Amino acid sequence: MSAKTIMVTGASSGLGEHFSRILAADGARVILVARRIGRLDQIARDITEGGGSARVMEMDVTDPGSVERTFSKLDGPLDVVINNAGISNSGSALTQDPADFDSVFDTNLKGVFLVAQQAARHMQETGGAIVNVASILGLRVAGGVAAYAASKAAVVQLTKALALEWARYGIRVNALCPGYIETPLNADFFATEAGRKLVQRIPQRRLGRLGDLDAPLRLLCSDGADYMTGSIIAVDGGHLVSSL
Ligand code: NAD
Repeated sequence: MSAKTIMVTGASSGLGEHFSRILAADGARVILVARRIGRLDQIARDITEGGGSARVMEMDVTDPGSVERTFSKLDGPLDVVINNAGISNSGSALTQDPADFDSVFDTNLKGVFLVAQQAARHMQETGGAIVNVASILGLRVAGGVAAYAASKAAVVQLTKALALEWARYGIRVNALCPGYIETPLNADFFATEAGRKLVQRIPQRRLGRLGDLDAPLRLLCSDGADYMTGSIIAVDGGHLVSSL
């Protein structure tokens, strides 16, 4: 990964923070992106104090002007973009507020598109890689997450459509579909009876750990994946093949 410049959106927590730290440890120059830069500054400081290279940039992925401004400030080549920023909400589709539905789609789908579009304009001459973080909920459904599941299914299809359009520029577009990964945000739920039952339905009978995503992520970012584009990689302990 050394000598690659890699942008990670939604780098202020969870998967995005983890991806930024491991890629920096691999030797990449990491650009950490999120709406609020306070937390990003702290992560970037940790990375640079550990000998890595990190830069912080502010961006709201739902705002075309914000996305364009951030890309216009880049002063060198960009090799990889990890489209990780995402939100979820849960509840019955019967009572879902249309504004909440919009905000899930604005972040998870339009945000991925806006960032990918700017990235591709930047990479058009040099080639590069875009990794979209979708979800197994983009490939199968669960109750109470209709907007989220639909937005991630759209990310899967967007990934394939962009891979087709941009292969001619040497730009690879792939998607990572994590299963249920334990993070501080969902730890409480997985400690409940409902959470434990959900884990029992995963063939490997355990939640994913952040580190389970490292090797697939590194593959999609690396030149070793030069002949991979439009690929959708699930990392889920077999959850997608659980018995019906
Ligand atoms: P998280 O809430 O910890 O992180 C999401 C990040 O996105 C945060 O840094 C947040 O600030 C950022 N973000 C949200 N809206 C933004 C916007 N408009 N502009 C810029 N940044 C914005 O969640 P997470 O669990 O780390 O999820 C990261 C990604 O992984 C998401 O796309 C999520 O759908 C996906 N995912 C997570 C899991 C899981 O189990 N945690 C499973 C499958 C997929």
